[in-house]
Amino acid sequence: MARDVSFSVRGNNGEDLRVGAWRFEGRGEGPEVHLQAGVHADEIAGMLVLHLLMPRLQQAESEGRLKGHVTVLPQANPLGLGQFRQGRILGRFHEATGQNFNRSFDQSQALVRPATNVQHWQKSLVELAATADMVLDLHTDDEALPYVYIHRAFWPRGQALAAALKMDLAIIWDDGGDGSFEETLIAPWLRDGDSAQRFAATLELRGQGDVSDHLAGQDADGLYAWLCTVGVIDEASALADWPVQAVEMGHMETILAPRPGVLVFEAELGDFVEAGQRFARIIGRPGDASSEVILYAAQAGRMVTRYRDRLIAQGSVVAKFTGSRVSHNWTGGLLDPN
Ligand SMILES: [Zn+2]
Repeated sequence: MARDVSFSVRGNNGEDLRVGAWRFEGRGEGPEVHLQAGVHADEIAGMLVLHLLMPRLQQAESEGRLKGHVTVLPQANPLGLGQFRQGRILGRFHEATGQNFNRSFDQSQALVRPATNVQHWQKSLVELAATADMVLDLHTDDEALPYVYIHRAFWPRGQALAAALKMDLAIIWDDGGDGSFEETLIAPWLRDGDSAQRFAATLELRGQGDVSDHLAGQDADGLYAWLCTVGVIDEASALADWPVQAVEMGHMETILAPRPGVLVFEAELGDFVEAGQRFARIIGRPGDASSEVILYAAQAGRMVTRYRDRLIAQGSVVAKFTGSRVSHNWTGGLLDPN
């Protein structure tokens, strides 16, 4: 049976909160894997994917087909799970401190005694994952195509993962500088030059509403097949050829709302737009035609993500597109906010 490696973190009132974690024991001859979902708390798809994957890992373990250890945290963030306001989960940010849950993991590592409960939680997660050779962090976006977000050190090896999950887009990054979970985990690998034996990626499992047995079953199948191909599970698995477009992170175009208002999309996820093509409009004051602002694509590309709600605040991300040259808005860092 999988070993329960759940641990406690401190809630906002000092109470114990459990982070459910299970470790499937392999024969010790394959890579060690860490899988987690829900660091941002309101990104649900990965929770169901891992929930569906776990019985299959259990079966592989009991039949002696598990070569490497696999640790699974299907719901990594109990701090965020408790943050319901008016019937909706807040998600990305810790309300008490304003911290984005997936930033500054690196800073928590340096602290002998973490100052905040978020830092304590971050330190615990990294410590649990620190011995892994392969790390997958499962996220979702607002509304989005499925895509993989991956450091250049793991590309093009990551193509197999994208293919297994039927993702046709990979966003390649070099240097985040924001201390995300993944970035913090791979920092020592990159520093020591042994990333060739290791692997890490963030999976963006579509949008926040895309939670279904159908999609999660397909993704769990994909993860299982990938674990077979990378030598974690002793089982033959052939991945079909699958085209994956790799886009430099600096080429992604993020369009922000120039004003608040009613958001009307004129293009769908996955649509290809030409440079200068209109794809949405914002009606600032319904009833006043002059308050409409038309939004245009900055360069030719595909719409990958878009805002989930249809009333948007000024400065929020309306949509993200792929591109083929560096975005004029590119300033480095991670592709916030996913
Ligand atoms: Zn996220």
